[in-house]
Amino acid sequence: MAATYDDNNIFARILRNEIPNNTVLEDEHVLSFHDISPQRPVHALVIPKAAYADLTSFAETASDAEIVAFVRALGKVARATGVADDGYRIICNTGENGHQEVPHLHFHIVGGGSTGPMLRRQDS
Ligand code: AMP
Repeated sequence: MAATYDDNNIFARILRNEIPNNTVLEDEHVLSFHDISPQRPVHALVIPKAAYADLTSFAETASDAEIVAFVRALGKVARATGVADDGYRIICNTGENGHQEVPHLHFHIVGGGSTGPMLRRQDS
């Protein structure tokens, strides 16, 4: 079952211009802005403008135009933030087990130096 969408999540409020953001780029379908609590020298977020709670709902129900715009934007943000040539990591936390905190689909683009190992192996 698709995740329900909370209209009052913080990214929905950013999209309604109720709270400010530090924009990297914006087009018809996508907004990208700098993370408020950067984990690396470059840490941008890329979100669709429409109401998708997570990657599963986006993958299952977004239009081709929205999906193309989103993937194109990932490349544009990597270029605009200066990480495209030296490399970067994209993270998409999804749902409870993925530790997604904001229930509006977002990809993190992190870079500006080594991003470190992908995941630490769990002991248990
Ligand atoms: P996640 O844990 O994948 O849901 O990531 C949520 C991200 O949103 C975190 O990296 C937060 O620092 C970031 N964040 C929360 N509020 C804001 C905000 N107002 N502007 C920019 N980034 C935010």
